[in-house]
Amino acid sequence: MVAKIIRCPNCSEELELTDLYDGMEITCSLCGSLMIFEKGKILLMETNEEFYIEDLECEEEEEEEEEEEFEEEEEFYGEYDEY
Ligand SMILES: [Zn+2]
Repeated sequence: MVAKIIRCPNCSEELELTDLYDGMEITCSLCGSLMIFEKGKILLMETNEEFYIEDLECEEEEEEEEEEEFEEEEEFYGEYDEY
């Protein structure tokens, strides 16, 4: 399921998109602006401005912190012949 959160280019209200396809109409719940998504861009009908969806996207979930810590603990390796 595609769930994106974008900001309304008009009023910056956060709009949750549960779907995304060419020709999809998005109406801002706050200011009522009508936008149409097409080819990776959001067309704001009011002003005919185009915005890249990447620019409007909200990235709130930042849980991709991969801690790469290489702890090379050299366990004492002794090859003692105990004969
Ligand atoms: Zn708005």
